[in-house]
Amino acid sequence: MPWSLLIRGGTVIDGSGAPRQLLDVAVEGERIVAIAPELTGPADRVIEATGHVVAPGFIDAHSHSDLFYMGCPSSESKIRQGCTTEVVGMCSFSPAPIAPGRAESVRGWAGGIGASIDLAWESFGQYLDALRSVRPSINVAHFVGHGALRLATIGPDNRAVGPDDLRAMQRLLDEAMDAGAFGYSTGLVYAPSAYAGTEELVALARGIAKRGGLYFSHVRGESAMVEASIREAIRIGEESGAGVQIAHVKASGRENWGKMDAVLRLIDDARARGVDVSGDVYPYHAGSTKMDNLLPAWVHDGGLPKLLERLGDKSARRRIVEECVIDGERWGTISQGRIGFDEVLIATCRRRELEGLTLAALARQTGKVPAEALMDLLLEERATVGMVSFSQTLDNVAKVLAHPAIMIGSDSIGLSEGIGPKHGKPHPRMYGTFPRVLGEYARDRGLFSLETAVHKMTGMPAARLRLEARGLLRAGYAADIAVFDPTAVKDEATFQDPHHYAAGIPYVAVNGSLVVDGGRMRAAGTGRVLTPR
Ligand SMILES: [Zn+2]
Repeated sequence: MPWSLLIRGGTVIDGSGAPRQLLDVAVEGERIVAIAPELTGPADRVIEATGHVVAPGFIDAHSHSDLFYMGCPSSESKIRQGCTTEVVGMCSFSPAPIAPGRAESVRGWAGGIGASIDLAWESFGQYLDALRSVRPSINVAHFVGHGALRLATIGPDNRAVGPDDLRAMQRLLDEAMDAGAFGYSTGLVYAPSAYAGTEELVALARGIAKRGGLYFSHVRGESAMVEASIREAIRIGEESGAGVQIAHVKASGRENWGKMDAVLRLIDDARARGVDVSGDVYPYHAGSTKMDNLLPAWVHDGGLPKLLERLGDKSARRRIVEECVIDGERWGTISQGRIGFDEVLIATCRRRELEGLTLAALARQTGKVPAEALMDLLLEERATVGMVSFSQTLDNVAKVLAHPAIMIGSDSIGLSEGIGPKHGKPHPRMYGTFPRVLGEYARDRGLFSLETAVHKMTGMPAARLRLEARGLLRAGYAADIAVFDPTAVKDEATFQDPHHYAAGIPYVAVNGSLVVDGGRMRAAGTGRVLTPR
């Protein structure tokens, strides 16, 4: 029988970190069946890969595509980077579980994303079935969000959990694990996840540690309190026995940039004493999230209706200004540190004409002081505004990228033309993360070898997640494959002009099917909802 696919003459970088080799790769159906020099035999399709690197498909260790699969199962902006798997359910957000009658609060929580989607599920298992039924083109490894667990049990309120609440959350977490979740995630700067104390998080982590589940942590603060926050995440792993992944490792705010070495040392020290801790990072010095996260946690107490009420209330606004505005020029938050109004971009917004403006420019345009312009914008847009914030430094980004326990996660969503996303100025990482690591950081700056770069986006996350037979090029492994030109691979998306697919990645196979073929996307729908080994 002929092979279904033969990739001939390429340079194999197998994902393990081992040196490159000239090898051919044969695929039969969904699996790699042979890797050897100069394979001969009939094949339905032959790709001549001379001058190209043949690597395992990349694994985005930190993604937020979850709800987007429902409208955009092709995840094109990820696939075109060579990604074949996304890890979602991050930063406390997941579309399930949803308690009966609570869909509206989940919708408000998801902001603009949830508005157009029929949240027609309750349990995590029902949601994963709905995800399978839309046939994503990319493999999906799903975590359950701590915020979703809280919303489904005690709602959006700012309060500590009692023993009954905790039991209810543990039951939902167990159900999610039974259905195929890899663990749970927090976003301790985001309501309602932020309302949890450490004990609650340790108790939940204990439940998953027994079954090999992981705790993925967007920590409590990435600015002034970054060291204490990393310590808390490590403590949760140490006390529960669960593996910990620190999400998008960073130090936000100019005044905190100097803390990066201490943060990495905390991770090194924990690893040295046997705590199972790792992290992920995106290769940019700006982050992106919903703009309402610039508001303190108390403003979110009770969910979206309460938030809007407070934004319309004079005394609440005064309190927000007192807490957040620093010398009129900057805004101070737990997640961003002290950030200038000229360092925050409006990325996506219902009023298209505002997209790409900084908050400082918006203030000038409207004749308001920046803090008022920010609060008015959130009120008028019902808190549905995406932002890009330049709160980090490139030196730190390189330092984190190079750390041996850090893998690559874009912290972004996958988009395609189908969902109508060619507007706005979303963070370029949704188009450029992986080619930027390969091109800019490995090839151009020589931060690490191409073998190391590929390992950080394939074998390393696959081992972390205990993915079955994925993340390496080996006979018997899933045929998730990226073929790229090491001299040409490049991110083309910029902050001012983000909607450009990466260059130099002509072929991508997901479970043996060519989803990018000669540089053209074919939404094959061959992705799988993965479950832990
Ligand atoms: Zn996050």
